Amino acid sequence: MKLVFIGPPGAGKGTQAERICADNSIKQLSTGDILRHNVKIESKLGVGAKEYMTSGRLVPDELIIEMIKEELKSLEYANGFLLDGFPRTIPQAQAFDELLKKLNTKIDLVLLLDVPDEEIISRLSGRRICRTCNRVFHISFNPPPDPKDCDRGICDIYQRDDDKEETVRHRLDVYHNQTKPLVDYYKSQNLVAYIDGIGSLDEVYDRIKSNLQHKFK
Ligand code: ADP
Ligand code: ADP
Repeated sequence: MKLVFIGPPGAGKGTQAERICADNSIKQLSTGDILRHNVKIESKLGVGAKEYMTSGRLVPDELIIEMIKEELKSLEYANGFLLDGFPRTIPQAQAFDELLKKLNTKIDLVLLLDVPDEEIISRLSGRRICRTCNRVFHISFNPPPDPKDCDRGICDIYQRDDDKEETVRHRLDVYHNQTKPLVDYYKSQNLVAYIDGIGSLDEVYDRIKSNLQHKFK
C-alpha cells in the first residue's frame, strides 16, 4: 500500500494518517515532522529550512527531494507508506515519480482530503501538538490528555509558531497556488480519491476506509 495524502494545511491529514497507518501496518512519512525535528536539532537541513517554515513558505524543492530520497532508503517503508505533506509542488511530484521508477514501484492511491478555507482557520487556531510523541490534538474537537494521564509517558503540549492566523492564511495561498495543481497531475494518472474532510474524526476516517477497501479489495 503506497499512499499519498494531499489536502490544505489543517485538513486532518496527520490525524487520519496515524489511524490509517496503524490499521494497515504501513509507515507514515510526514515531511513536516521530519523538518521540525531537524530544526530542533539544528542540523544543516533544519537551519536551511527554518526561515521558510516560520513564514509559512515552502522549503526549496531540492532540499525536500534530497530528504525524501534519504528517508525512503529505510527498510521501514518496504511494507508500504503514507506520505503526509509530500509532494507539495509539481517538480516534487515529478522527482518522486522518477525515484519510484528507479525503485521499480509506484503510487497506488492519492487521497485528496478536502476542507474549505474558513474551517481550516478554526482547526489550526485550536491545534496542539505533543513534543514527545508528535500526536495532534485540538482544544475543542480532540482535546489533549492531562499530562499525568498520557498513555505514552509525559505529553508535552505546544502550539506551532506557524499556526497563527496570518501565517495560516499565507499557507492556504501557498496550498492553492503550488499544491492544488497536483490534483490534476494525479487525476491524469487516474490515482485520485476525493474525501470530504468535513465531519467528525470518525466520519472522515470511515470515508477513507471505504475508499481503501474499494481500491485494495
Ligand atoms: P501542515 O500539516 O499544517 O500542512 P506541515 O507540517 O506539513 O504542515 O508543514 C509545515 C511546513 O514545513 C510547511 O509550511 C513548509 O514550510 C514545510 N514543508 C513540509 N513539507 C514540505 C514539502 N513537501 N515541501 C516544501 N516545504 C514543506
Ligand atoms: P494536517 O496534518 O492536514 O495539517 P491535522 O491532522 O494536524 O491536519 O489537523 C489539524 C487540526 O484539526 C488538529 O487540531 C486536529 O485535531 C483537528 N482536526 C482534524 N480532523 C478534524 C475533524 N474531522 N474535525 C475537527 N477537527 C479536526
